[in-house]
Amino acid sequence: MSHQDLLQGFSSDILVGGEWRAGTGKRYQSLYPADESVNAEIAAAGADDAVEAVEAADAAWRRADWAGLKPHQRAAVLHRVADGITQRAEALAHLQRRDNGKPISETRALVASAAGTFRYFASCLETLEETLTPSRGDYLTMSVHEPLGVVAAITPWNSPIASDAQKLAPALAAGNAVVLKPAEVTPLASLELGRICEAAGVPRGVLSVLPGKGSVIGDILVRHPKVKKVAFTGGTEVGRGIARLAAEKLMPVSLELGGKSPTIVFEDADIDHAVAGVLYGIFSSSGESCIAGSRLFVHKAIFDTFVERLVAGAKQLRVGDPLREDTQMGPLVTSSHRDSIERYVAIGLEEGGRLLCGGERPAGDGREKGYFYQPTIIAGLTNQARMVQEEIFGPVLAVLPFENEADLLAEANDSVYGLAAGIWTRDFKRAWRVGRALETGTVWINTYKQFSISTPFGGWKESGMGREKGRLGLLEYTNQKSLYWGLNENPLAWAGRV
Ligand code: NAD
Repeated sequence: MSHQDLLQGFSSDILVGGEWRAGTGKRYQSLYPADESVNAEIAAAGADDAVEAVEAADAAWRRADWAGLKPHQRAAVLHRVADGITQRAEALAHLQRRDNGKPISETRALVASAAGTFRYFASCLETLEETLTPSRGDYLTMSVHEPLGVVAAITPWNSPIASDAQKLAPALAAGNAVVLKPAEVTPLASLELGRICEAAGVPRGVLSVLPGKGSVIGDILVRHPKVKKVAFTGGTEVGRGIARLAAEKLMPVSLELGGKSPTIVFEDADIDHAVAGVLYGIFSSSGESCIAGSRLFVHKAIFDTFVERLVAGAKQLRVGDPLREDTQMGPLVTSSHRDSIERYVAIGLEEGGRLLCGGERPAGDGREKGYFYQPTIIAGLTNQARMVQEEIFGPVLAVLPFENEADLLAEANDSVYGLAAGIWTRDFKRAWRVGRALETGTVWINTYKQFSISTPFGGWKESGMGREKGRLGLLEYTNQKSLYWGLNENPLAWAGRV
């Protein structure tokens, strides 16, 4: 699909309270990270749009045409959203490729996962059963769940369509109205998703899509008294600020934040599987992944041979045109993000790191025009080095040797983050022991970066709070309520007979 075909007819209008129109914010250009060509001029949301969207959402969820629908009726709309995503799958995959430069094979998978997310939460909604709880008197006790009201969904640029779906589907399923604020640099797929939701029958005002500045639009959404929950995915510092504001409002938040995930290769690991898994874990998505396995611990007995194979594998990765079916790593999202990755590599080398591969921009094949960076592996650092402790969010791997399990666990857990970890071993008892001892929300054993929408996901420590996905993911967008139904034949005794 050519650039012109894809973006022909693409309207840069935004969705505010049921109306597609130019936002009142500063217009900006959305760029293709592979060659800096202009995708579209975006009429970004301004402060007034954000306030209007919240007011419209608040009015919309109180109407009977969304929260008041029976669960199977809302589920039918969600299924139609999934159908719409599937019908527009190829266009959505290309829009996201233009947005953040991810290879087309990867954006296709993200689009398929977004459709699956809508179907999953439609099914959860239809099969959700409220409970009759054991009663202790002449009354019937019930626990039910109600929508929260207006939810602000704030998403990052690295997997827009999938992170949007992960918030929109459960929030809408639960009967809420949603104001979605995608990252400024990746508005295309989110706006298209807004159109799909509208066509599927999400009523007017129930969904707004506001691309724009986080510090303006995001901040207004978080502070607005009518916003009853913020579902945020992004960096830890922004998440911390949101949590502070939420504390003032006593508002629930879910925070999916950064990571610096350890991958551990024991001496008895299946080496072919481990090499492939480690390469995929850190270098897929060009390392722009919250769960990137960016700290690699390898047992001393196999360290040299394992790292040698890893470096050989990294040098073979195909870094280039995201449109090519066989590309494994596209460009980084922006030029300033690549600058920050280069600064981290320089810091690592100043700290005494040894560059084993990468550490530079690739040349040739037109890649000079985009924000490409070679897969980079650095050895010789300790776990305390800045480059090993701080999230880089790029294709940079630190490799560290270990000798015994106790020291390894202390080092693997010595991180402010606790998002994910990987273990490669043939010893299932060790996998169980180490897996349970790792302080992370997800542990992959003899695999990495695999996801099921049915399995909860979220971080420990500074990687976040709250859980997405799974059946419980739906209840995160509800208020629980207890109902007591009196069944007494006589008035309550306390007042006596009056
Ligand atoms: P970011 O925190 O800069 O931005 C995320 C979103 O928040 C964007 O939409 C942004 O506009 C908005 N925002 C920025 N300032 C805001 C403010 N003051 N108030 C409200 N909203 C604001 O993150 P990013 O650079 O877009 O994404 C990269 C980060 O996201 C990494 O740290 C990565 O680890 C994290 N991430 C986490 C997960 C997860 O599930 N844990 C998944 C993907 C990305």
